[in-house]
Amino acid sequence: MSDCIFCKIINKEINSKIVYEDEYVVAFPDINPQAPVHLLIVPKEHIESPLDISEDNKDLVGHVYLVAKKLASQYGIDKKGYRIVSNCGDDGGQTVHHIHFHLLGGRFMTWPPG
Ligand code: AMP
Repeated sequence: MSDCIFCKIINKEINSKIVYEDEYVVAFPDINPQAPVHLLIVPKEHIESPLDISEDNKDLVGHVYLVAKKLASQYGIDKKGYRIVSNCGDDGGQTVHHIHFHLLGGRFMTWPPG
C-alpha cells in the first residue's frame, strides 16, 4: 500500500532501525516506546488488522510469536516475562492500519490496559 507507513518501512522507503528481518516479518523499535523494550513485529504482507487474518495467512501469527520469543531472549526480557499486544480497530486503539504486534518488556505490566 503506497500510503502505509509500515509498508514504507518494510520497503526501506523511510528509515527505521530494523532489528530483525526474515521472509515474512520485520521488527523495529516503536517510535513512542511504552516500556524499556518496545518493538513492533510487522508482517511484510499488508494485512489491515487482526480482523483480516484468514485461513490463508494464519501461519503468520504463529511465526510472529516465534520471532517474539527469539527477540525477547535477545533483549533479555524472556526471564521475567513480556507482553505481546495487537490492537484491532478503533475500539482496540489501532492507529496504524497494517497488522502489527507490540512486544513490550523490561518493566512490570499492569492489567487491565487503558
Ligand atoms: P497501534 O496504535 O497499536 O496501531 O500501534 C501503532 C504504533 O506504531 C504506535 O505505538 C506508534 O508509536 C508506532 N509508530 C508509528 N509510526 C512509527 C514509525 N515511523 N516508526 C516506529 N513506530 C511507529
